[in-house]
Amino acid sequence: MADMTDRTTWTASPFVAAIEPITESDDEIRRYLADAEIQPLLPALAYATGDMSLLRDDLRPDPLMVSLPQGGYTDEQAAAVRELALEVLLRFRDGGCRPEPVPADADVLRIMEFAVGGKSADYDMADYLPLLEEELAHRGEDRRAPTWHKHELAPDTDFRVLIVGAGMSGLLAAHRLDEAGVDFVVVDKNDDVGGTWYENTYPGCRVDNPNHNFSYSFAQRHDWPFHYSTQPVLHRYFRDCADAFGLHDRIRLGTEVLSATWSEDDHRWDVVVRTADGREETLTADAVVSAVGQLNRPHMPEIAGLDSFAGPAFHSARWRHDVDLAGKRVAVIGTGASAMQLIPEIAPEVGELLVFQRTPAWMVPTPEYHDEVPAGLTWLYNHVPAYSEFNRFCIFWRMGDGALATVTVDPAWDVPGSVGPMNAMVQMLFTEYLKEQFADRPDLLDAAVPSYPPGAKRMIRDNGVWARTLKRDDVRLITQGIREITPTGVVTSDGVAHDVDVIIYGTGFTASRFLTPMTVTGRDGVDLHEHWQGEARAYLGVTVPGFPNLFCLYGPNTNIVINGSIIYFSECGVRYIVSLLGMLLGSGHRALDVRAEVHDEFNARVDARNREMAWGVSDVNSWYKNASGRVSQNWPFTLLEYWQRTLRPDPGEYDLSG
Ligand code: NAP
Repeated sequence: MADMTDRTTWTASPFVAAIEPITESDDEIRRYLADAEIQPLLPALAYATGDMSLLRDDLRPDPLMVSLPQGGYTDEQAAAVRELALEVLLRFRDGGCRPEPVPADADVLRIMEFAVGGKSADYDMADYLPLLEEELAHRGEDRRAPTWHKHELAPDTDFRVLIVGAGMSGLLAAHRLDEAGVDFVVVDKNDDVGGTWYENTYPGCRVDNPNHNFSYSFAQRHDWPFHYSTQPVLHRYFRDCADAFGLHDRIRLGTEVLSATWSEDDHRWDVVVRTADGREETLTADAVVSAVGQLNRPHMPEIAGLDSFAGPAFHSARWRHDVDLAGKRVAVIGTGASAMQLIPEIAPEVGELLVFQRTPAWMVPTPEYHDEVPAGLTWLYNHVPAYSEFNRFCIFWRMGDGALATVTVDPAWDVPGSVGPMNAMVQMLFTEYLKEQFADRPDLLDAAVPSYPPGAKRMIRDNGVWARTLKRDDVRLITQGIREITPTGVVTSDGVAHDVDVIIYGTGFTASRFLTPMTVTGRDGVDLHEHWQGEARAYLGVTVPGFPNLFCLYGPNTNIVINGSIIYFSECGVRYIVSLLGMLLGSGHRALDVRAEVHDEFNARVDARNREMAWGVSDVNSWYKNASGRVSQNWPFTLLEYWQRTLRPDPGEYDLSG
């Protein structure tokens, strides 16, 4: 067998071994190909063999259909792709599994353009090439790793970073600081790492982003058990990452940050924490990274009589595993992403389920949503060079900048319920899906079809389970508003009392109240939350003027609605923060502060663009807006722009002092 280590270097991940040689028979390979994701197959094979003739026009996906299952390929096209792939794989096997040298950039570009359906007037894929090479850990290189080390930059400077939160973003920041040789400590209020993937243990909790996208670029896996990971799988992944990165000794669990105060004299933060045994302790840090997430603090609705209910009542993110729901009458308030996952899970168990819906969600048809990854697909990830990476690329594109046009306002468009022609097409497709789902229950269909444009609120993946659940005899959908909660149940605005044994609140999180309930005091004693007055803003979601050496991850305006993975934003954000720290350490100064005019100008652009997006222009209520109606959560531009802007800091945008 040829030595493949010189070429098959797709091994940046601590979890993926080198691509294995193919030893299987023709029939076995044919069987495995039946399980293939079609869209990345020919791109990966063209990449591995250098044979660009595989990129046949008749086998190119339709760019308008790539968001559909199997990249929108027809059955005939998919069969032809499999046949062609079989021929190539047999030749590859018989030739000793020797991939050709990595194609030149021009060919990689052709492959990427083919994968997404061809060139487009809307974007130039060449702009994306460096980003995508990085995003795919192209050629096995972890190109987002720090490019400097503290030993070289500032060997004699004591510098310590405190990271608040050991979830996805906090672990990432810790790993990168470790690589840069910067001292740090991570504190987390919870008893384990994982953040939201530790806290949300409600039945049915799983991610709605395919695993290959919802994982660190440099810590990919080929062995995901499901297409869309369940909460235990993802929690385990983040724990495994903390192990693989060697972080556990530097994480203080059960430790909650109460306040952080900037000391201008010492150029550092004094951070008061409450320790696991209830003591208060002050830690000092030269810089603080907030990695507390947006979906961290449960939102309890303001409903009269909320506390009067006599039975168990709890929030989806604080699931009471001690409450036995079997045979009980249960009310679930809310039909957002959490509730729409837990309702189908508990429906078969409870006696009767009352679902209180205020606003229906658009649903994205996803037949494989709950399915295990079939054995053949895992085999392909392990044996076809670059297949897993091109699969990630296809997801990245169809859920990323490739989808942005579908939620962008066309000022000339004047059709109620949609914001542009592409948006109207999505609306039509998803309405058809709902009509199919509720064909036998027109009463439910009326309640299920949203009146707002797709993309104005979070869309929910569905494999048919939602309609099946609502159609059950023991499930009732209630769309009347809620007037009050009483000791015995829920009273709706029509005066009907719905008595229940248990109330579950699937009512979301206080997402727009960034960094609460911590008290953060910056220069001149300014309190961050008083400064914000409910209008959280930051430069690139990361830095706030007057709060030196404070950095946010998943900060204001870094959430995405349809386009992308929040892990992508954290990887860009962490690189930016690490680069800023490198800039600071290299300068010999002690503090950096973003210039107010840079911050203000950036936020004005963000606000203007958010008003041109479905979530900004629609008046439907959503967690993307704060109390004043400003979109304080979402990034309205391309993923490419966030990458470009965070690639390296512009020293002119920061004041250095100390
Ligand atoms: P959410 O999307 O904010 O949903 C909250 C639900 O509670 C909505 O249906 C809301 O109705 C309802 N609600 C709130 N206050 C109410 C009141 N006073 N009376 C009646 N209903 C009320 O929260 P979530 O479901 O926890 O999801 C939050 C985000 O977490 C998601 O958008 C997603 O980004 C993430 N998440 C992702 C997954 C996944 O990956 N699959 C799973 C769970 C969560 P209105 O719509 O009318 O406001």
